[in-house]
Amino acid sequence: MTTIALEHVTKRFEPEDGRAAQSVTAVSDLSLKIASGDMLAVLGPSGCGKSTLLRLVAGILEPDSGTVSYDGVDLREIPIRERGVGMVFQEGALIPHWEARRNIGFFLKLRQREREVPERLRRIAKITGIGLDQLLDRRPPQLSGGEQQRVGIARALARDLRVLLFDEPFANLDARYRAEARVELKRLLNTFPVTSIYVTHDQVEAVALSHRIAVMREGRLEQTGTYQQLYHNPVNLFVASFIGANPINLFPGRVDDGRWYGKNFGGFALRRDLPNGAQVIAAVRPENIHLHSGGVYGVVDRVLPLFAERCQLITVHLAGEQWSLVAPLDQPVEIGATVQCALQPEALLFFDAATGQRIG
Ligand code: ADP
Ligand code: MG
Repeated sequence: MTTIALEHVTKRFEPEDGRAAQSVTAVSDLSLKIASGDMLAVLGPSGCGKSTLLRLVAGILEPDSGTVSYDGVDLREIPIRERGVGMVFQEGALIPHWEARRNIGFFLKLRQREREVPERLRRIAKITGIGLDQLLDRRPPQLSGGEQQRVGIARALARDLRVLLFDEPFANLDARYRAEARVELKRLLNTFPVTSIYVTHDQVEAVALSHRIAVMREGRLEQTGTYQQLYHNPVNLFVASFIGANPINLFPGRVDDGRWYGKNFGGFALRRDLPNGAQVIAAVRPENIHLHSGGVYGVVDRVLPLFAERCQLITVHLAGEQWSLVAPLDQPVEIGATVQCALQPEALLFFDAATGQRIG
C-alpha cells in the first residue's frame, strides 16, 4: 500500500481555440495527504476540479507546478508500469464484446498471470455475494449500468494495486442500487486494502464511504474533516451551505457594539474585535429551528415531507424573511397557518459577509 501526497499542485487548461480570454485553473495550489490504506472522499460541485485532481494523482496529467508523490517518490520518477493505479469511472470502460470474466482478468492476462484469475474472481464474487457470479459469463451490453460498474470495480481489484481512484462511479445508478453498490464497495475495500480516493458530488455517498471528506471548490480544498466536523464546524460559508441535507438558513445582519443584529432578530454576542457596522451573515440549520409556543410568529409557506427521515421541512414567512425548519412528521402543519418558531442560539454560525470566512 501507498501513501499519496500532493504538494502545492496547480493545473491550468489553456483555451483550445485561443479566443477565450483566460485559461482555466482546474486545480489550484492544492495540498493533501492520504495515509497508506485510507480512503479519502473528495466532495464538490460539478466543475470544481475533482476529475482533474484524480487524473493528476493517476499521473494521466502532469501538474504545471507542485508535486504528486507515492511513498515520497515523485510520480514522474516512477515508471508507468510500477505505479499500480486503477481507475473506475462513471462510464465503466469495459470491452463490449468480452464477457465479464475476461474483462476482469484482462490486466492479469497482460502480465501473463492468468492462472491467478480464478482465485481472485472467487474472492471478489464471494464478497459481492451471488451478484458477480451470475454476471461473469455475460457481455457488457447484457449487463445493467449497475452491473457494469460492479464488473469495472472487480476488474480494478483483480490487479495488484497501490492506488485505486473512483470518479463518481455510481452517479448514473438509481438511488436504491447506489446504496447497495456502496455497501458492496466498502466490503471489497476491506478485503483488498488499497489507498483510494473517491470523488463525488453527493455528500450521502461521501459519508457512506469514507471517514475523512475533503470539500473542494473552484480547484481548491476548502476543508478536510469528518462529516461531523464539516457540519458543525464549517470554516466558511461555502462549506456551511454545501454540507447538510437541507439548505442552511442565512440571515444578513450587522455588528453593533459586539452583537449581531439582523432584520428581525438579533442581540447575539460576537467576537469583541469586530467594528460597528461590519456586515455579518448569521447561519442556522433547519434542524436547529423548532416550532415552539412562545417563539416568533410566522406563516407557513411550504411543507415538504421527508419520509425516510421521518420529518418534514417547513418554510415559514416571517417579516419578509424565509425560515426553513425541520419538524417531526406527526406534527400536522397546514400551509397558510400561523406558527411560532424558535431557533437554538448556540447553533448559530457567523460569517464575514465580504469574505465568507467563519468568524463565530
Ligand atoms: P469536476 O470533475 O469537478 O466536474 P473537472 O476536473 O472535470 O471538474 O473540471 C474542472 C475545470 O477544468 C472545469 O472548468 C472544466 O471545464 C475544466 N477542464 C477540465 N478538463 C479540461 C480540458 N481537458 N481542457 C480544458 N478545460 C478542462
Ligand atoms: Mg468530474
